[in-house]
Amino acid sequence: MWSFRAWRRRRLLAKTTLPQAQWQAVVASLGLLRGLSTGELRDLQQLVLLFLAEKSLVGVQGLALSDAMRLRIAAQACLPVLALGLDWYRDVQTVLVYPGGFIARHEYQDEAGVVHVERAALSGEAWERGPVILSWEAVAAESPAGVNLVVHEFAHKLDMLNGAANGLPPLHEGMSVRQWSADFSAAYARLVAEAERGGVMLLDAYAAQDPAECFAVLSEVFFAAPGLLQGSYPEVYGQLRLFYRQDPMVRLGC
Ligand SMILES: [Zn+2]
Repeated sequence: MWSFRAWRRRRLLAKTTLPQAQWQAVVASLGLLRGLSTGELRDLQQLVLLFLAEKSLVGVQGLALSDAMRLRIAAQACLPVLALGLDWYRDVQTVLVYPGGFIARHEYQDEAGVVHVERAALSGEAWERGPVILSWEAVAAESPAGVNLVVHEFAHKLDMLNGAANGLPPLHEGMSVRQWSADFSAAYARLVAEAERGGVMLLDAYAAQDPAECFAVLSEVFFAAPGLLQGSYPEVYGQLRLFYRQDPMVRLGC
């Protein structure tokens, strides 16, 4: 079927390339891109090119975004949709980048009808039908094993494709919602129990916050430390492999 967007994308890819030296430097600096084949890296590069052409990356509070910074954000954002395509980010128009952590102000109404205002210092946020917000300081920082802020926030956007974030993104044909829910519910229950016991947790305790955070945090681990997820929650690893249509453990070998 003829589509204007497809035509525009083909035209852009035919006449534009990323600045190669900068792109190679970004690829070399990101551990989670290790092991991608030449073909996968070529696909990723095309996704990044389209991502940067179609989405607005905006530095706020005086932050000037260089090409290298844009590439670093886009490369990590595009990895989860490498086998899915950029249309999975059709609800992402804007990425706001703060220099450091930012104070978010949220209002919510409780069951008694009282409106509460919360303020929290955050390094990232994803809004339903709204922007992704990132702290550059957190994007640039050396993350602990299995932690990746950009993958986390963009996983929320995938989750929001079928309504409010709840840990269940739209699944592909052939995948079972019942099996997904069973595997994630079991993992979530274990994480909550572990968090309540206290002590050191293997995975980020934030995964025990709610099912949406569970999906986002385990997606980070899936891409950034796949062996850790496969070792502790093999069923969830299997579900994410089906969803993202990638097997990071094979390419990273750990
Ligand atoms: Zn989150």
